[in-house]
Amino acid sequence: MTPSQTPVRYDISRSDLVALLDGEPRYRVDQVWEGLHQRGLDPAEMTDLPKALRAQLEDLLAPGLALVAESESDAGATVKSLWALSGGSRVETVLMRYRDRVTVCISSQAGCGMGCVFCATGQAGLTRQLTTGEIVEQVIRARRRAEPRRLGNIVFMGMGEPLANYAAVWAAVERLHDDVGISARRITVSTVGLVPGIRRLAAERLPVNLAVSLHAANDELRDSLVPVNRRYPLAELAAACRDYHEATGRRLSFEWAMIAGVNDRPSDAAELAGIAKPLHAHVNLIPLNPTPGYATSGTPAAGVRAFQERLAGLGVNATVRDNRGTGIDAACGQLAARSIAPPADAGTGAAADPALPADPAAGRRSADLLLR
Ligand code: SAH
Ligand code: SF4
Repeated sequence: MTPSQTPVRYDISRSDLVALLDGEPRYRVDQVWEGLHQRGLDPAEMTDLPKALRAQLEDLLAPGLALVAESESDAGATVKSLWALSGGSRVETVLMRYRDRVTVCISSQAGCGMGCVFCATGQAGLTRQLTTGEIVEQVIRARRRAEPRRLGNIVFMGMGEPLANYAAVWAAVERLHDDVGISARRITVSTVGLVPGIRRLAAERLPVNLAVSLHAANDELRDSLVPVNRRYPLAELAAACRDYHEATGRRLSFEWAMIAGVNDRPSDAAELAGIAKPLHAHVNLIPLNPTPGYATSGTPAAGVRAFQERLAGLGVNATVRDNRGTGIDAACGQLAARSIAPPADAGTGAAADPALPADPAAGRRSADLLLR
């Protein structure tokens, strides 16, 4: 949060709440804190509080996210929410309901400054960092939206590079773990490969899952797809991944967006196996989703399967990501915070209409969903 920004609901700490409730009976602090974090209530819904206090808290603890629009795909199993933040930036959150679990894909920045060429978020650049409260609130809202199902998994695969907003992201992880009650093994941080951030993460007290967006396993190709590779080349990245795995015991995964003729050749599989196998890493193959700024197509399904089999033959486990949300630009790399249909229209299909005018004020963004 920049100093000029007013803290929003989930930006406050427990000691801020203690100060805010000065003069109230002491048990109010627990009541409100649990109401916010465990029950996900708005202050107005906290019927165990006196009415005047509810109204006061509603004013003092303003929400950080205002719903601009919501769209559904996959017969309602995938829900993309477009939120306006204070100052007007927009971000997206994607809720994915699978048969056996519910996962939310959250944003850590409005836009992204990393410039990966195939990613809609990267194509637009960084608008601003999210605060801890704005990150946590995405989860709280998604958990309520998922009811009666139980939200189980959180992935930082929406808009933005989480390790480029490290302090806010880590404070959000701690809040989600300590106060919202989500286990660290159900939280996945996905990074483009910021080595200092990976090393910092390895020293934290909570062992979250780490996903690294690799996409190429030789420096020349990776430099051209993922510009940050010039700063943190593959040898350094692989060493940081190894140390992460050793420090935390968590399984690593590599993301690989499959781009026809670019990174789907047998030589690419061999190079990928050369990095993934010694690290015992799992590979997630994501058929490239179309974005306005990148003309090359995704690898066709048969090619994706062949690549997966080739990896298996080289001793590397890979899964092909279930490509949720492509019809509503909610799939990996497609999040661009464009204006979609208003919430009242959610589910009509109108929300998915790419012909709707884009919001010129919106930063592009790419969240990804997925996740198996
Ligand atoms: N910045 C982080 C997390 C957000 S991006 C990162 O890059 O890991 C989430 C995932 O979507 C990343 O693996 C990213 O490389 C991938 N992605 C981006 N654009 C994509 C596209 N057009 N098609 C498929 N996957 C894409
Ligand atoms: Fe940023 Fe990730 Fe997109 Fe790269 S893939 S531009 S790091 S959001």
